Amino acid sequence: MKNACDTLITNAKGVVIPEIGIIQTNILIENGKIKSLQRSIDNIQASKIISANDKYVLPGVIDPHVHYGVYRPIEEAAQTESASACIGGVTTMMRILRMTGSYTDIEKQLSASRGNHYVDYSIHASILHRSQIQDIPYLVEKIGINSFKVYMNLGGELNHIYVDLEPGSDEPRYSEVNVNDELLSSIIKSAKINNSLTMVHAEDPLMCAEYMRAIKNKQENLPILETWSRCRPALSEIRSITKAASFARQFNSELYFVHIGSARALETILQQRTRGGRKNSLYIETCPHYLTHSTDFDSILGKVVPPIRSKSDLYHLWSALRDGQIDTIGTDHVASRLSMKVGKGDIWSALAGFPGLATMIPVLLSNGVNKHRISLERVAEVTSYNTSKIFGLYPRKGTIQPGSDADLIIVDLALKKRVSPQLLKSYSDYTIYDGWELKGWPVLTMVRGIVVMENGEVEKRSLGHGEFISRPTNCHK
Ligand SMILES: [Zn+2]
Repeated sequence: MKNACDTLITNAKGVVIPEIGIIQTNILIENGKIKSLQRSIDNIQASKIISANDKYVLPGVIDPHVHYGVYRPIEEAAQTESASACIGGVTTMMRILRMTGSYTDIEKQLSASRGNHYVDYSIHASILHRSQIQDIPYLVEKIGINSFKVYMNLGGELNHIYVDLEPGSDEPRYSEVNVNDELLSSIIKSAKINNSLTMVHAEDPLMCAEYMRAIKNKQENLPILETWSRCRPALSEIRSITKAASFARQFNSELYFVHIGSARALETILQQRTRGGRKNSLYIETCPHYLTHSTDFDSILGKVVPPIRSKSDLYHLWSALRDGQIDTIGTDHVASRLSMKVGKGDIWSALAGFPGLATMIPVLLSNGVNKHRISLERVAEVTSYNTSKIFGLYPRKGTIQPGSDADLIIVDLALKKRVSPQLLKSYSDYTIYDGWELKGWPVLTMVRGIVVMENGEVEKRSLGHGEFISRPTNCHK
């Protein structure tokens, strides 16, 4: 008897399956799900056969840290940024939503998002104001959002943050936010009570403001990014990490530290992990730019918070990535145009953040796997498996196993491409990798059984295929 399926992926050099390893198998897909993995294709009848052409297949990438809908309304931003996700092999993008008012109005954002994504998406809600804490149960129970971001970096004179646009509007706007200890602990506590995860931006705004003032006054002639790094010292991260971790112990809750880029911040979290509670209750995310750029970059384009650090921090992060100390990689993608990014042309007025969705996997393959710093299995863990487990998407996503969504990528480790903004298909017209030759690219991206990118071309007909992924209410019990 023949074993029928919609789509068969065959001829892979290896299929990278977290917890199992790299195996020789064929992948049978039916109705957007993995139907089975079979060694032999003798008895299989498939409507569509995709040859992996002796290349590796990995689980689709889950990017846990994406900003879009900030400078353009989500209905427009979703189209370009999810196209860029396809290029980078990202099959689920997790938006960090920042609303100023009540999150009971989130339906407007959700309906504007619908039909405008190529890839699946999920949402983390930022809690900027005390009044929003009461919206947490609603978001968890009714919407399927169970991760909440707190910005410890906002307060004092550094209290401005861009919030997401109302659908249909295109006037970027600020909110004034002041995260004091009382608000921080209330968010951590409330997230815990609602079986949710708190995501922490750990920097101390008072310390950063003080350092920034001193450095401006000194007027030393330092390289641009060295100046920026000194304005926001690792010490400020350490102070905030220590404080947040102590609240986490108090409420026996988990924390997810976003964008860790300095060796000292990383070491502080590792130390805090050993103190009380479950060992892995403090998660660590780093970003591709901390693995590729140091203050030597010396360009205003590299302005980001927390700042890009020294070469030695960069090497330290690669070993932590290899050794399993870092849990996930998020891009902290910001879809801005060059004209907005550079501001008046100085480090003070430039906008923080830059695009990164499409280049995460190429960076990890080129500078990681192809340079023997990390294995392909490790890439699958930090870009998909760990992320899916931490955010309650597993086993629907994060692996290639029967019953999971057929989200996967085929990567060509030998393919070289020179990076340009055009290649990446984001709204952003610049990239910090402009001109870099990266070796190792996704050549096919599949979301729930549908090919959304092949050979660097986005499949335009699949616009709207991406769905909002609501997460289960009990995953952080
Ligand atoms: Zn961010």
